[in-house]
Amino acid sequence: MRAAVFHQPGQPLTIEDVPKPTISDREMLVKVSHCGICGTDIHASKEGPFMAPPETIFGHEFTGEIIEIGETLRDGDFKLGDRVTSLPFIDDKTIGLGAITGAYSEYVKVGYDLVVKLPEELSNRDGALVEPLAVGLHSVKMAGSVAGRTVLIIGAGPIGLTCAIWCRFFGAAKVILSEMSDARIAMAKTFGFNDFVDPSGDVTAQCETLLKGPPEIQFECVGKTGLMQECIARAPKRGLIMGIGVCDHPDTIVPLMAFGKELTIQWAVGYDKEDFEFTIDMMLEGRISATDMITDIVPLSAVPEVFEALKQPSTQCKVLIDLDTD
Ligand SMILES: [Zn+2]
Repeated sequence: MRAAVFHQPGQPLTIEDVPKPTISDREMLVKVSHCGICGTDIHASKEGPFMAPPETIFGHEFTGEIIEIGETLRDGDFKLGDRVTSLPFIDDKTIGLGAITGAYSEYVKVGYDLVVKLPEELSNRDGALVEPLAVGLHSVKMAGSVAGRTVLIIGAGPIGLTCAIWCRFFGAAKVILSEMSDARIAMAKTFGFNDFVDPSGDVTAQCETLLKGPPEIQFECVGKTGLMQECIARAPKRGLIMGIGVCDHPDTIVPLMAFGKELTIQWAVGYDKEDFEFTIDMMLEGRISATDMITDIVPLSAVPEVFEALKQPSTQCKVLIDLDTD
């Protein structure tokens, strides 16, 4: 099968012929329809503790059709032709970040208990947005109740934006975003967010103006060193700081400042199966949509070039690989 393969940092992915995954009797094979390119993939292609091993095939935000079913699963809930997405794990091994071949390819294998059927009304294209939406949903659920509280989202990339969408969904009093990219600000505006702070200026002062006080909850969706301390300094008494962005460097904070305000710092990553299911339900009811986040749909052959382009901030938000028309 054809796949886009990662070899080493600084080198573009290459399109190659690789063996089709073979399935065990408790796995299923999916013919990939759509797959999102995720910031996590870009991150894992760079030097550092998070780097994926050579020969990795990325792709953990996918949809497709079941074309093979493992022997012990044949009388189960799934049948050939079912359209599905899946949490990107089989028995704790990750799909698309090294351990198991991901969906920047024609076929991907999935397990069983983490596979979710796509209802007829939900396209394979929109189904590929379930995963990024579920990341935002899980992050907001981990924050506890956001209802009636003021929220600052730091970083309006796909994950910051999905956090903002779910904060509004769950009744936050006001959601403001800190972002400097014009393209990302424009994208957030299409989702109805109109209050922005400029991170090159005094964020705390801008929050005061927009919120008439400091943000009660802050979602740090960038993962840059120094930001956590800025959040601590800005937070009100008993404020909450959510660590969502991946920071893989040592980062200094002044605990005394957090201590004095009795702050809560909570990290969140990934999702549970129920987050996928709830996201799909809300998409079907028209209460949540991320379709407008899709800025580019590209064939597999274009992935090396597009992946390189995504390493620098650009106009793209969510880029999907379409394997149906390739
Ligand atoms: Zn992702």
